[in-house]
Amino acid sequence: MMKKPDKPVLVTRSSLPPLEEYVEMLKPIWDSAWLTNMGAYHEKFKEQLKRYLKVGSLELFVNGHMALELAIQAMELQGEVITTPFTFASTTHAIVRNGLTPVFCDINEKDYTMDVDLIEGLITEKTCAIVPVHVYGNLCDVERIQEIGDRHHLKVIYDAAHTFGEELDGEGVGAWGDASMFSFHATKVFHSIEGGAVAFKEKALERRLYQLKNFGIMDSETVEYVGANGKMNEFQAAMGLCNLRHVEEEIGKRRELAMRYRQRLEGIEGIRLCRENPRVKYNYAYMPVVFDGYKAERDEIFQALKEKNIYTRKYFYPCVNSYECYRERFRAEDTPVADRISKQVLTLPLYADLPVEIVDFVCDTILEAGE
Ligand SMILES: *Cc1c(COP(=O)(O)O)cnc(C)c1O
Repeated sequence: MMKKPDKPVLVTRSSLPPLEEYVEMLKPIWDSAWLTNMGAYHEKFKEQLKRYLKVGSLELFVNGHMALELAIQAMELQGEVITTPFTFASTTHAIVRNGLTPVFCDINEKDYTMDVDLIEGLITEKTCAIVPVHVYGNLCDVERIQEIGDRHHLKVIYDAAHTFGEELDGEGVGAWGDASMFSFHATKVFHSIEGGAVAFKEKALERRLYQLKNFGIMDSETVEYVGANGKMNEFQAAMGLCNLRHVEEEIGKRRELAMRYRQRLEGIEGIRLCRENPRVKYNYAYMPVVFDGYKAERDEIFQALKEKNIYTRKYFYPCVNSYECYRERFRAEDTPVADRISKQVLTLPLYADLPVEIVDFVCDTILEAGE
């Protein structure tokens, strides 16, 4: 086994373009002195993203959370929203901050996305939308969700923060549902430092989303909505444009490392990995591993790795329905699978420039802890 790395290895590391490439992009910003408010890079980035994500309509935002919150606001909803507790805080907060009531649907054991068999049982006369999450880059059962949404006249808004560039049968994931939010946060597969986007279907949303991210302003004398400030600035867009040039290569490197993890950990008793769907083109955003009946518990593995300078994350623990701020309103026991998986899962380090020796070292440490 290789010796413990000198520097801490974190679960992710932001990818950066060569510095000269970014510096080169800054000159036009200085020339025009146009720093934000839908400048030239903003427009260029939007067009390139539409092509890359294979979506018809897209609006950019300052971050993924604002994108999701304003996408939900743009739908002008009232009542209950069916969603998953096995996600990042942002998903639920975006619902609650819109004055809507989240109703938590449990997840399935297979890929940890919403258990579609449970959705209809949660629908009431107050239900207005479904907000599923393509967690870890695992696609939800988009076909069944569409069917359910159509049958009950519900909006479907995906939290697609983890599925940048993923495709189902060659089609961009953002083509599913009424809208999908992508996050370009520094820790994600693809980033614009901070940033986000909403891909959407209905043409009327274009104008509304644009206004909502700019205080609801329609023209210099008319403010039509109670909007927010959700605009992406030129420095973010420039970073996005640079990173977009390299993203395929980055995903290729992630894929190699993910395959290595798989090779080393697949088929070991008590260790569960997500199975790949051959219809999906993945981005290898995360490497989640579930310890279920393994000789060591998740927390012991977390600790053993930490002692060796490897910092994994307990994504997503705790579940949203047991957060301090939601504890009075919800119970984790109502979503038992999500509750259990959240206590068994660990996401292992995965980023483009992670040395394969570290992957082996992580696997060796996990296997050793189980001896
Ligand atoms: C990162 C993330 C978000 C929020 O994105 P930001 O760009 O950080 O605001 C929302 N949902 C999920 C599942 C995420 O992982």
